[in-house]
Amino acid sequence: MNMAEAAALRLVCAERGWTEAAGPEDADLVLLHTCSVRATAEQRVFGRLGQYAALKKKRRSGGGRVALVLSGCMAARIGGEFKKQFPAIDYLMGPQERELFPRILETEERLFSSGTGEAAGTGAAAGTGAAAGTGAAAGTGAAAGTDRAFPAEKPVFSFAASHLEEGRFRSFLPIMHGCDNFCSYCIVPYVRGREVSRSPSAILDEIRLLAAGGVRELTLLGQNVNSYRWDAREEVTDFAGLLGLIAGELERLPGKPIGWVRFLSSHPKDLASEAIEVMASSPFFCRHLHLCVQHGSNRILAAMNRRYTREDYLDLVSRLLAAMPGLTLSTDILVGFPGETEEDLEETLDLMEKVRFLYAYMYHYNPREGTAAYGLEGRVGEKVKRERLARVIALQKKHTAFLLEGRIGRTETVLIEGISRKNADELVGRTERDEMVVLPGSASLIGSFAAVKFSSLSGNTLRGTLVQK
Ligand code: SF4
Repeated sequence: MNMAEAAALRLVCAERGWTEAAGPEDADLVLLHTCSVRATAEQRVFGRLGQYAALKKKRRSGGGRVALVLSGCMAARIGGEFKKQFPAIDYLMGPQERELFPRILETEERLFSSGTGEAAGTGAAAGTGAAAGTGAAAGTGAAAGTDRAFPAEKPVFSFAASHLEEGRFRSFLPIMHGCDNFCSYCIVPYVRGREVSRSPSAILDEIRLLAAGGVRELTLLGQNVNSYRWDAREEVTDFAGLLGLIAGELERLPGKPIGWVRFLSSHPKDLASEAIEVMASSPFFCRHLHLCVQHGSNRILAAMNRRYTREDYLDLVSRLLAAMPGLTLSTDILVGFPGETEEDLEETLDLMEKVRFLYAYMYHYNPREGTAAYGLEGRVGEKVKRERLARVIALQKKHTAFLLEGRIGRTETVLIEGISRKNADELVGRTERDEMVVLPGSASLIGSFAAVKFSSLSGNTLRGTLVQK
């Protein structure tokens, strides 16, 4: 989701004539788009802020200036505290405040053209509020040390009209935003807010735009795409309905340029049979699904507030595989949740054995202040968490290798994504089942679908050769 938002922000810059600098040292404005989901990601942002504050100071001492914008979840989560700790931040812009960005750029353009040093004293828009160029303080709570103001009204999330990046043949397409689930370990509902769905007509408009821009693969995005719901004049479009509309639109596009559609993330409790049916009945939907399980123990799933059981999850997997034989699954697994016992971990390992995920994002629990799980007793020690995580990772590696080895000898369609980082004479691509493939070939193939025969496995990557169809 953050990557799609960053793409939309880059588009706003491009529309106003801003170009990407080679690095922060050459930039007039630094945009730091943040994520709060993992504590480690936030720690990295704190490190970067120190660097950018030093950069600002250096620039100022040479008579120049650089504006610092902090956007995304952290801006919403920590808010004004940031400005106390890092006064070098000029603008804070939470996920619901994307529409401020053109005004921020406009303010900076004005400041640069007028040769004004700093924004303070000009009435410029701050991270979350006042209208740029008007000098109006829209609300309450001016940020410390500046005349910047916070909004009087609660901001509302709006979707960008386009997320197309020039030259890209894969694109994200946000269809909903926010989350109402409140899993007990997760900060997302607090920083992203409640679920908002995008209108089907805006989604189809963007699909046409992306197709015209050369996109071959779409990934529909949302914190929980399965709870997509557009309610207009008694006509409700749910996720299954939206998938049907998208399949119809792709079918109608001349030459059918967009071949593949993926979506994430899917919450197991919300993936309806109707959506599985639509997915199974259309060749556009990739035979891969990221279906976060998080844990294999019912006791821990309940403590996580996931609202499904391991039996529900396994039943869903059986129904998916019955509808789409050959479908691959990936997942997220969280070990070391408060109260987790050895038996709970064994249940997770057992569930992994039963499903055999193609890959998994595996991590151990870190308490996040402000979440329901923060105060839970029975925290698992660091050493035990690391040891359990290592066991989960070892099992997943075995499953990944097993599934990929089973693919050797097959010929599949691969979307060629680029040049291999390890060997400039080789290309990298991906199957619709989300398997990475390396093959010798010409760069002219990048962005196209090709038939590839798999010959061997190197780590988690299949190796293959082009096949003339
Ligand atoms: S479904 Fe749960 S884990 Fe996913 S974003 Fe919502 S609260 Fe967080």
